[in-house]
Amino acid sequence: MNTMAALALTQNLRFTPTPPLKTLKQHQRPNPKTLKITASSSSRLSGRKLRAAVIGGGPAGSSAAEALAAGGVETYLFERSPSTAKPCGGAIPLCMIDEFSIPLHLIDRHVTRMKIISPSNLTVDFGSKTLKSHEYIPMLRREVLDSFLRSRAQSNGANFITGLVTDIEVPDSYSSKPYVIHHTVNNCKRSLAVDLIVGADGANSKVAKIIDAGNYSCAIAFQERIRLPDEKMEYYHNLAEMYVGDDVSPDFYAWVFPKCDHVAVGTGTVCAKQNIKGYQRGIRERVKEKIKGGKVIKVEAHPNPGAPASEACAWPCGACWGRGGVCDQVFRRRNIFRGEIR
Ligand SMILES: Cc1cc2nc3c(=O)[nH]c(=O)nc-3n(C[C@H](O)[C@H](O)[C@H](O)COP(=O)(O)OP(=O)(O)OC[C@H]3O[C@@H](n4cnc5c(N)ncnc54)[C@H](O)[C@@H]3O)c2cc1C
Repeated sequence: MNTMAALALTQNLRFTPTPPLKTLKQHQRPNPKTLKITASSSSRLSGRKLRAAVIGGGPAGSSAAEALAAGGVETYLFERSPSTAKPCGGAIPLCMIDEFSIPLHLIDRHVTRMKIISPSNLTVDFGSKTLKSHEYIPMLRREVLDSFLRSRAQSNGANFITGLVTDIEVPDSYSSKPYVIHHTVNNCKRSLAVDLIVGADGANSKVAKIIDAGNYSCAIAFQERIRLPDEKMEYYHNLAEMYVGDDVSPDFYAWVFPKCDHVAVGTGTVCAKQNIKGYQRGIRERVKEKIKGGKVIKVEAHPNPGAPASEACAWPCGACWGRGGVCDQVFRRRNIFRGEIR
C-alpha cells in the first residue's frame, strides 16, 4: 500500500510490508481487500487504542483511514476542503472497482471507445478494438468518489475533521512522546496528539516535507466542466478523447471525458505549470467545434500528484488510482505520437 510511503510509524501496528508496486507483476500485487491492519496492545498505550492521524481526504487518505479504523485503530482523517473537487480526469482502471469495492452507481459513464489525437490531428481509435466485450473504462466525478470514500472511512469508525493541518511536532526517534498535529478548524487553532501519522496530503505534501520524505514532482491540472447541447453530448456518450501536442501540454495529455450530464475538458503539466491557462485555451481550440454551444458550469484548477511521462507506469498516489490503466496507456501512446510515428 503506497500510502505508507509517507508514514511516520511508531510501533504497535502490524501490516505486511511489500516491495514497491512498480517492481511487482499484477498477480503479485497485494489486494487491498485482503490487506489487514491489526492494532496490538502495548503497555505503552496503557489500555487505550493506538491513535492515528491521516492527513488528506483524497482517495489515498480515505482508503488508509478506512483500513486503519477497520483494524481497530482510533483514526482521525483530516481534510482541509471536502467540497473542492480535483481537476483530475476521473477515469479509473476497471480493476479498481473490485479492488476498492466501488459501488457501480458512482460511475457516470461506461466508456468503451477512446480516441487519441496527435498534434496534427491523426486519430487512433482504441477501446472498441482493445477492450473485451465486458470491459469498459469507468468514468467518475472526483467529488462523488472522494466524498463516498470519506463517508465509508467514517462508517468504519474514522473520525473526520474538516480542518487544515498547519504543523506537526515530530518526536525524537527514540522518544515515547506522541506526534502533535496542529490544525485549524473554522479558524480556531487546535492540536491532537497521535501515535502515528499517514501523509496522504497530495501534491506539495506538508507531511512529506516535515518528515523529510524526499523530493517528488507534482502536476498542475485545469479542467472545465461544460454542459453541451444534446446532439454534441450524444457524440461523447461512451467516448473519451485524449489530445497530445505542445499546444495542449508539453508533457501530459489534454482530455475530453464524458461525465453524468456534461463533459470535462482539461489538461495538466508538470514542467510548465505557469502556462497551464494557455494549454487550456489550446485544448478548447482543438475541440471548439465539438463543444460549440456548450455552457461552462464549473472551472477547477489544482496541483495534483502526478508523474511525468517518463515515469508514467504508475501515479505516485497512495491508492494507485490510474496505475497501469488508462493513464499509462495514454502516456505510452503519447510518446509514440511525439514523433508522429504510425
Ligand atoms: C492532469 C491530471 C489528470 C489526472 N487524471 C487522472 C485520471 O483520469 N484518473 C486517475 O485515476 N488519476 C488521474 N490523475 C491522478 C490523480 O489525480 C491522483 O493520483 C490522485 O488525486 C491522488 O490521490 P491522493 O489521495 O494521493 O491525493 P489528492 O487527491 O490530491 O488528495 C490530497 C488531499 O489532501 C488534502 N490536503 C492537502 N494538504 C492538507 C493539509 N495541510 N491539511 C488537510 N488536508 C490537506 C487536499 O485538500 C486533498 O483533498 C490525474 C492527475 C493529473 C495531474
